[in-house]
Amino acid sequence: MKDLKIDSKVKLNNGVEMPIFGLGTFQAQSGKETRDAVLHALQIGYRHIDTASMYGNEEDVGAAIRESGIPREEIFVTTKLWNSDHGYDSGLAAFEKSRRRLRLSYVDLYLIHWPVQDLRKETWRALETLLKDGKCRAIGVSNYMIRHLKELLDNSSTVPAVNQVEFSPYLYQKDLLEFCRKHDVQLEAYSPLTKGHKLNDPKLLRIALRYSKSAAQILIGWALQHQMVVIPKSSRKERITENAAVFDFTISPEDMRALDLFDQGLRTSWDPTTAP
Ligand code: NDP
Repeated sequence: MKDLKIDSKVKLNNGVEMPIFGLGTFQAQSGKETRDAVLHALQIGYRHIDTASMYGNEEDVGAAIRESGIPREEIFVTTKLWNSDHGYDSGLAAFEKSRRRLRLSYVDLYLIHWPVQDLRKETWRALETLLKDGKCRAIGVSNYMIRHLKELLDNSSTVPAVNQVEFSPYLYQKDLLEFCRKHDVQLEAYSPLTKGHKLNDPKLLRIALRYSKSAAQILIGWALQHQMVVIPKSSRKERITENAAVFDFTISPEDMRALDLFDQGLRTSWDPTTAP
């Protein structure tokens, strides 16, 4: 990744630039834990924070952004619409609540958190309205599998800018990645560290040793080298720093291929393949 930096950006399908690397905040406790984590991340160069209404920490993300003193437009903020807020009117209202909790005048990326059956098409219309009204700079989806994406593309002229899904060498969803690429949907990898479950896998540690890097850094590097946006989460300063120290090495094509073969369909979050 020697060609990339912590604040390198990818151009989304509507021209908005999104930092390829960010901080995840799922299970970061509301209050001091989230504020300290986000503030530390921003201080060491992170420029992209991922939160969600469901995480209960939007207030703290917003507070840390203000406390950092970094100009708002230099930070990319994603939040998400929760399952109970689907529908057109409820979608608009949910966005407004998130925006107020964040105390931001706009959100950079607003995502549908989960493809709730029947309602998701109406919800997408609400997101289109928010985009048109300039309330968010880009809109996208999360946990959409190919069939959910096809349905959306068949019913709307707005192609989602991003699809945020679980992705790691242990869950290498190649077909989904290719589909997204073909339709100019940026794939964003969540739970890139397998929530910690695979960080002691000997075959991963063997590769890490070759680069004098940690297992976490190899997993982040793998996602970046597959041109995904990646959002590892930590609430600990030393790990937030460690996870960002990935822009000084490149995984060889041979090791990339080896990592690709780690796939075992491992899902550490929820499973959208069964979502109708
Ligand atoms: P990750 O794969 O990022 O792993 C996070 C876990 O790994 C935490 O327990 C963390 O502990 C630990 N960890 C972090 N860095 C290191 C390290 N260097 N060494 C050892 N352990 C480490 O899991 P997440 O599920 O949190 O995914 C990342 C982000 O993606 C989320 O925070 C959220 O923003 C988003 N997400 C979105 C979902 C969706 O449905 N759209 C679903 C799940 C996640 P600690 O904090 O104690 O350091």
